[in-house]
Amino acid sequence: MTTGPFCGSMGCRTEAEAIIDHPDHGERVVCAGCADGHEVVAILDDGERTVLDRAKVMSQQALARADSAERELEEIAQVNENLQQSVQELEAGLDE
Ligand SMILES: [Zn+2]
Repeated sequence: MTTGPFCGSMGCRTEAEAIIDHPDHGERVVCAGCADGHEVVAILDDGERTVLDRAKVMSQQALARADSAERELEEIAQVNENLQQSVQELEAGLDE
């Protein structure tokens, strides 16, 4: 049997699992489904509130962003290389 707390979203009576930072309502206790797409500031486990280390979460997000930026750069470099190759092939074709 669940004893709560329950999700604070309108019309949702699911057991709460997280605390989010809602842009309009501030900190809100919600279920996992309603937390989706929001910034989670704490996890509720058996009613125990575990505050997430915001700095850690943010640095992880920054790392993930840097990672994907690096991948994009690699893809761009690859495209650039392919283009240069095509240009060389075209030029070689013109010389013949
Ligand atoms: Zn909910």
